[in-house]
Order: sequence, then structure tokens, then C-alpha cells
Amino acid sequence: MIKHARTHGLAVIPRGAGHSTSGQAQAPEGFVLDMTSLATIHDISPTQVVVDAGARWSDVLRATLPHGLTPPVLTDYLELTVGGTLSVGGLGGASHHHGAQTDNVLSLEVVTPAGETITCAPTSNREIFDAVRAGRGRNGVITRATLRLIPAPEFVQWHKLHCTDTDQLVADQRLLVNAGTFGYVEGQLKIRDGHHVAELEAVAFNASQGNLNGLAFQDIETQSTTYWDFLNRLASGEPLLREAGLWDSPHPWCNVLVPSSAAEGLLQHLQQELGADLYSDFGLVLAYPLISSKITTPRLRLPPGDLVFLIAALRYSPTDAPDVVTAMQQANDVLVTKALNAGGTLYLAPL
Ligand SMILES: Cc1cc2nc3c(=O)[nH]c(=O)nc-3n(C[C@H](O)[C@H](O)[C@H](O)COP(=O)(O)OP(=O)(O)OC[C@H]3O[C@@H](n4cnc5c(N)ncnc54)[C@H](O)[C@@H]3O)c2cc1C
Repeated sequence: MIKHARTHGLAVIPRGAGHSTSGQAQAPEGFVLDMTSLATIHDISPTQVVVDAGARWSDVLRATLPHGLTPPVLTDYLELTVGGTLSVGGLGGASHHHGAQTDNVLSLEVVTPAGETITCAPTSNREIFDAVRAGRGRNGVITRATLRLIPAPEFVQWHKLHCTDTDQLVADQRLLVNAGTFGYVEGQLKIRDGHHVAELEAVAFNASQGNLNGLAFQDIETQSTTYWDFLNRLASGEPLLREAGLWDSPHPWCNVLVPSSAAEGLLQHLQQELGADLYSDFGLVLAYPLISSKITTPRLRLPPGDLVFLIAALRYSPTDAPDVVTAMQQANDVLVTKALNAGGTLYLAPL
């Protein structure tokens, strides 16, 4: 198909689970390749797994966890495809230890824009390896990936720390990721029962992790759970969103990477606009602290600084409400301008 399209000057865009929110997996007047039928999980060894690019991360985990193994970094939601997240980066709460998912790929099988199938890795066809990781499907189609595996945690202690405000949330996040004492660190702002909530999630993956000394949070909820239940925590949200009619409706989401020094200001701004008008009752803001040196994927452009934050405004518009979508997009434009002015970069935006 790629050779045919090339001959006729048409675009070919691969599509994984199609969860991108700004048409990244669309090809106006061209071809969209549905990758989801290419979803076999191949060999699993103690250090790696070979998977087809259309496999979802939940499928990968269902295959590796029985062997006591896991990819080091998972996205919050597991029903995204391997090819889809490797084409953007793939950041999660473990990225401050392990980088992006694209930093944990050992090799890739790729169909190049010329229609040739090649294997690429850090030591062979390096240019192609670097062009397709976080390449948004524009530099070749990933058909198969060899992913790094590590031992899966058998111990999961999940803390939700409630902070008085965004400044305290950011300060505690900085402290935790610099100390490296938790396996997973993320944060979120939301409105629940009419109150603003600034919540830091910190997860210990073994008994030696979990030092909370020096943090300024107000109160804490702690639960022990299985690794799978923790990773798959968003699965219960899907039926709720479907019931509320917000699953197939527009999601003008906006993701920016900003220097650590800009995190408080941007989160204060986003906290002020949180509410039904620009988010719906389900919307929220996420903040992931990241250690820059762990992220080495060339196309995943980071702002300057040793520590940076991924900030995501997750907005849900009702169906058939173009005015609401416009207002949400305008709010995103403001966020993007503020982020770029602060030296930030865009994550997940169309190329
Ligand atoms: C509920 C939810 C939670 C999320 N959480 C996170 C998170 O925690 N961290 C994070 O980093 N991101 C997160 N994301 C964003 C997500 O990583 C990206 O939107 C991702 O691209 C979606 O994967 P997909 O399979 O749906 O890809 P698609 O939307 O289908 O495609 C995304 C891009 O990848 C390209 N592409 C797809 N497959 C291939 C392939 N095989 N070869 C080459 N290019 C390909 C497409 O052309 C497109 O440009 C989340 C998204 C959702 C909906």
C-alpha cells in the first residue's frame, strides 16, 4: 500500500487505537492504515518481548506478567497501541526513573516511506530508529517492536497525598523525584464535591521505597494493591464516560512540557479555569515530573532544565456542542502560548 500510495502521491498514515485528539491518525485524501489487526505478542525472554505494533499495552502486560515481567514505563491508560505511543513518546509516572517508552525500545521493524521493510536499533539503521520513535507515523510505519522488560513488582503501595495548593503539590513532586524514593510519581488537579483538589500520587514498588519524610502534604490515603490493578486503574472510568455520553464526544486535550520553574504558574492558571465549562464534570489536569537526563529520544523535544513537567489539560465536551469545543480550544491556545513563552514544548500535538 505504501508503494502504491507513493506512486500516486498520496499520504499513508498509520492508526493504532485512534485515541489521538487532533487528527494525528487521519490522512485527508490519503490512506489510513488500521494497525490493530497486527497485534501478535511473539517471544518473551527475561529481558525483552517482541510484539506487533498494533498490540495494546494491556495485551503486552497480559502476556508478560505471568512471567513476572513488565515494560518499565506504562501510560496511564493501557488501551493504547504499542505503535501509537512509540510514535509520540509514551510518558508515565515511572518516567522519572526510566524515561519515555521510546527510551525502552531495543529494536523496531519499520516499513519506510519508500516501502522497504527494515530492522533498526541503536546500533543499526540508527537514523531510521531515531526518526520513527516519536515520529508521529510520518517517517515510516512501525510493524514490530522489541521492548525492554524488567521484573514486575510484587509489592504495590499506592499513596494519594492531598496538598493544600498547587505550590505544595509541585514542591512535593520535585522532592520525591529528586530523591527517587518512589517507583511512580504523578499529580492531578480536579474539582470533587465542589472543592478544588490537588493530589499527588506516589507508588512504592518495593518495601524499601516509600519514604515520605520532608513532604508538606496535608493528609494521606494509602492502599495496597496488585501491580495489574494499579496499572489498569483507568479501566473502570470507561463505562462511566460512555454512560455520560462523553466517550465518543470531542476531547480537546492539550499536553505541554514545561521547565520546572514554570510549573507552579501554569498549574495555578489551570486550577482557576477548572470547572464544568472548560472541562465537564469529568475533566482534570495532570502533572508528571520528569528527570530530563532519563529521556534521550531525539524527537521528544524537552524544555531546558534538569527537571521538567508534562502538564495535561484533559477536557471533555458534550456531543453537538461546537461552542463548547471552541471555548476549550481557545483555552488550550492560551495554555500553549503560556507554555511556549516559558520555554516549553508541545507533546502529542500534530506535526
Ligand atoms: C485515556 C488516555 C490516556 C493517556 N495517557 C497517556 C499517558 O499517560 N502518557 C502518554 O504519554 N500519553 C498518554 N495518552 C496519549 C497517547 O499516548 C497518544 O494519544 C497515543 O498516540 C495514542 O495511541 P494510539 O494507539 O491511540 O495511537 P493513534 O492515535 O492511533 O496514533 C497516534 C500517532 O501515532 C501514529 N502511529 C500509530 N500507530 C503507528 C505505527 N504502528 N507506526 C508508526 N506510527 C504510528 C499515528 O499516525 C499518529 O500520528 C493518553 C491517551 C488517552 C486517550
